[in-house]
Formats: sequence, structure tokens, C-alpha cells
Amino acid sequence: MVIIPDKPVIHPLNFKWYQSQVQCIDMLRLDMLHPDISGNKWFKLKHNIFDAQSRGSKLILTFGGGYSNHLAATASAAKIFGIPAIGVVRGTYTGLTPTLQFCVDNGMQLHFVSHDDYKRKEDKDWLAGLLNCFPDAYIIPEGGANEQGRIGAEEIATFIPQHYTHICVSVGTGTTMAGICNGVKGGQAVYGYTPMKGGKYLAENIATHINEGCMVRWQLFDDWHFGGFGKIDNELIGFMNDFYNFNHIPLDRVYTAKMMYGVQQQLNAGIFPGNANVLCIHTGGLQGNISLNGKLQY
Ligand SMILES: *Cc1c(COP(=O)(O)O)cnc(C)c1O
Repeated sequence: MVIIPDKPVIHPLNFKWYQSQVQCIDMLRLDMLHPDISGNKWFKLKHNIFDAQSRGSKLILTFGGGYSNHLAATASAAKIFGIPAIGVVRGTYTGLTPTLQFCVDNGMQLHFVSHDDYKRKEDKDWLAGLLNCFPDAYIIPEGGANEQGRIGAEEIATFIPQHYTHICVSVGTGTTMAGICNGVKGGQAVYGYTPMKGGKYLAENIATHINEGCMVRWQLFDDWHFGGFGKIDNELIGFMNDFYNFNHIPLDRVYTAKMMYGVQQQLNAGIFPGNANVLCIHTGGLQGNISLNGKLQY
């Protein structure tokens, strides 16, 4: 089974979009790797799945909310690898969201827990109770945020040619960013954009996962959250449509739209030097756009 193409797919942005304020801005299209196991999620899942297989685990179990890209990607990957999957879902729903429906259609069994219980998802006693219901399950933390996830994310750096000076990536748990920081060679700067309010708190956690001796310069930006995680307004929707019309690249509503909005603000503020070669990583997540119901021109 080939999921990863052997050549990175990098698309230049239309220079009219960045108005020649830098040498170039290109996009690494991880969203194009696979229609369902989108973007960075495959990298964070692959070593977890291989590890589960090598330990002879009969099923995998992971966590997410009703719109989680990680749950959708896990359901799809588990189906391809023929491993039964359990999705522990935060909150109860009267009907399934499109994301949860997708998970069910791909054979994932959903296990709903209250918001309070969900908060205990890293608590050993609580997990032990959960494992009583699902014996021998291989547990993948929410968002694939573990060592296996970071090792996989580090492989994304092998798709990044040396001439780029700035790498931009959106940040949820920071697993992808930490992996990329560990993988890039030379003096490239890695900029992370958080889609939630006050996301700079993630810096402490990311720092603990960057290898000792790694010389990368990295920085988090949390100014472009649009009210909080998952929140969106007409300005952002307009931005997504404009971005698509200029560049023919669809952005996702939760992560990459806010990142590219931030990149544009930084271009206008002169944050990038004029000779910068910028590579923005499209981490996928387009499945979540269904909820925008016709407001997008793509
Ligand atoms: C999950 C996700 C992220 C965040 O990845 P982390 O490794 O958790 O930081 C970024 N972009 C998209 C599109 C995602 O689905």
C-alpha cells in the first residue's frame, strides 16, 4: 500500500497574493497525500499503527471531539490496515456530526463519554477502567500526541528542501511542530500558528520535545484565533475564498485558514525579510469544511 508519494508536492502561491514582499511563498501539500487520512495525521498515526501491529494489539483506541480530524484519519487508516478502531468521543450527541458519521462508515466503534470524563483521558486509573471495556486496546492519545507521533512528524522535514528560510505550520497539540523542528537541517526558522486563544502556553510543552542540541529557531504566534478553537467569522470565510481564488488551494476552517491569515498579516507588517523563501505546510483537515455549508466557493 502506497500512501506517501515519493516526491513532495509543493505548489507556489500566486505572487499577487504576497505582492512580492518576500522572494517566494510555497505550500507543501500534505493535504494531497490521501483523500481521507489527511495531512499531518498520517505521519502522526503511522508509527502508532506499526507499533500496535508489532505488539499484536487487536484494536486501537483513540480520542477526539465531534469534528476531530484525528478521529476521521484514524478511522480511515484503521480500515486500510484492517485493525478495528474505537473512538472515544467527547460529549454526547443527539445525531452524529458528519465527521462522526464518516468514522462510523469506516467501521470505527464510537464510545461517548461526558466532558468531565473526557478530561481524565490521560489519567491512569480512568484509562484502566476504559481498558476493561476494550481489553488489549492500543491507546493512541488525542491528536496522536506521543513519541510515535513525533517520530512520524519528523519525517515531514524530509519533504522540505534546504533553500527555504522559514517554515510555517499550524499547531494543535504541537506534535507536528516539534517533529518538524527535530527534522529540519540548517538554520531554518519554524513558525507555529495556534488556532486557539492564548495558544502560546503550548510553547513549554513543545520545548520539552525538541531534541537537545537541535539548533532550530522556532516561535509560536497566537494572535489569529478568531475567538477561539473552531470559531470562525465572515472575515475568515472571505479570506478562505480569496485565498482559493488567488492560489487554487483550499484551506481548512480550523487550522490552515487561520495560519495563512496570520502569514498575510505578518507579510504586511514586514515580519519576513524581503529575501525570505517561505514554505507553508498544508496539514490537511479539509473534511471539517463540510460544516460551512455552501459558504465556501470550493
Ligand atoms: C490536527 C491538525 C493540526 C495540528 O497538529 P498538531 O500536531 O496536533 O499540532 C494542524 N492542522 C490540521 C489541518 C490538523 O488537522
